[in-house]
Amino acid sequence: MHATWLTDAVCLTEAGTGFWRLALRHVEIREGRIAALHADPPVPRAGEMVMAAAGLLVIPGLVNAHTHSPDNLIRGSAPDLPLELWSLHSAAGREQRSPREVYLSALLGCAEMLRGGVTTVLDHIRFSPAMAPETLDAVAQAYRDAGMRAVIAPVLADRAVADTMPLEPADLAGLDIAAYGSRPAMPAAEQIALVTDFVRRWHGHEGRLSAAIGPSAPQRCSDALLLAAGGLAARHDLIMHMHLLETQAQREMGLRLYGRGMVAHLVELGLLGPRLNLAHALWLEEGDLDLLARHDAAVVHNPVSNARLGSGTFGLRRMRAAGVRVALGTDSACCNDSNNLLETMKAATLLTRRPDLAPEAWVTPGQVLSMATSGGADVLGLGAMTGRLAPGMAADLTLLRIASPAFAPLLDVVRQLVLGETGAAIDSVMVAGQLVLRHGRCTTLDETAIWAEAQALAERRLRLVLCKPGISGSNAIALPTPSTGLDRMVQALQGYTNGTPKAPRVFARHSPCLAPADYSTSSVARFCPNWKMISMLGRRAQAVSRPHRLQC
Ligand SMILES: [Zn+2]
Repeated sequence: MHATWLTDAVCLTEAGTGFWRLALRHVEIREGRIAALHADPPVPRAGEMVMAAAGLLVIPGLVNAHTHSPDNLIRGSAPDLPLELWSLHSAAGREQRSPREVYLSALLGCAEMLRGGVTTVLDHIRFSPAMAPETLDAVAQAYRDAGMRAVIAPVLADRAVADTMPLEPADLAGLDIAAYGSRPAMPAAEQIALVTDFVRRWHGHEGRLSAAIGPSAPQRCSDALLLAAGGLAARHDLIMHMHLLETQAQREMGLRLYGRGMVAHLVELGLLGPRLNLAHALWLEEGDLDLLARHDAAVVHNPVSNARLGSGTFGLRRMRAAGVRVALGTDSACCNDSNNLLETMKAATLLTRRPDLAPEAWVTPGQVLSMATSGGADVLGLGAMTGRLAPGMAADLTLLRIASPAFAPLLDVVRQLVLGETGAAIDSVMVAGQLVLRHGRCTTLDETAIWAEAQALAERRLRLVLCKPGISGSNAIALPTPSTGLDRMVQALQGYTNGTPKAPRVFARHSPCLAPADYSTSSVARFCPNWKMISMLGRRAQAVSRPHRLQC
């Protein structure tokens, strides 16, 4: 197979974790991999493609180790609330998605991430009411079409929402609990069978797609489901990815369920090990860091989501000191509100800086860049494949224009990249040697068409929900006319926010119903009349949580 050459590229290579070296190199790419980084100019043979990379900084493609693609289609819809409330609020927007919506939602994330220099992503995909082969395939197809490297982890859960919160029966008195959170889950065996089939269909596809097992979180799964998931991961040598201890309420729930910390419970189940990676890990018990390190489990740090939801502070400095492997994630576009890993790198770096710590203890931009590249790849089980600029590694590369605001003048490339670059300098992105972004635009996707379709779908949902029969009286909001374009939608929304003092509140009450086009009247009714109950559940869950010292 003919080679592709990137000539005269300024290459940023990792020289030990947290340390980076710059060198002018000519990158030889064969069969999707980096064949060599030459110091001397190449003499390309006939038919070989040469891409002049003078003035471009080449870095390993970034790894986003935690996101949820279905949330891309409800970006911007979630209010500024803590996780328990946010979660109940945003859940309606994911209900009963068609495969097309699921596909499009994943493509939205692909376009955004490629433009942001991300070449590899872990997509923890959750569906409601349940996953189905068609929707799982739609996600995999999106990554296949976009040309990204993806680890796809279907979310498993078998406990009703109301049963995952630390509530007493008295907390629920007078509430129609049957109307929400009591939907029977798909049986564990059925979920495992669906994921097993998905693994068979897609794991290893084109060398770019892989499957992982994704229990939502310990408290959302029975022990039987967690053990079955662990068994499936072990049988197929896959990573297992789940949320852990994102809020105080979750810690409280874990203590009630297990009579000990969740990490200790995972040890007891035999699940804490090198293939397990845990998103968030904010509310740990004393001694958990040692357990994580001793069992070589990894953690995915999502600093922007943690801050957006007011979840707590991640102990990055202590994690590193304990020897825990850490990757970076954005979390979903509904609780971030982007998939921008550059922004995440900056947040991760700066949030370790406190007045009571000596500057020597602060995490450096170089260390965080390692977490976003080789560290992320390692946590996702792809450390031998991607995340480094080195011969034999996949040609997953992000190329940035040095003649850009963040690099002018160029004095410390790593600091300027991690703390100053927004994505504006990203020129091209290559995944497995294929140019998937060129001059800032996706080559594999029609971004304009994707954005237009997403807008139309969002408007359709909004219109259907707001005009549903059964929502009446003081709850009624009807768009003045069927909205067909962005300007008319914006106009309609402005009517609520700039209208009578009552209007914004009324609108907010209905946003949990910002939901699928296929919503039946009964589905809408299931959520809207119970908004008060949903709020109470979430607030109660937070209120009953015992105070706990953060371990930063
Ligand atoms: Zn998440």
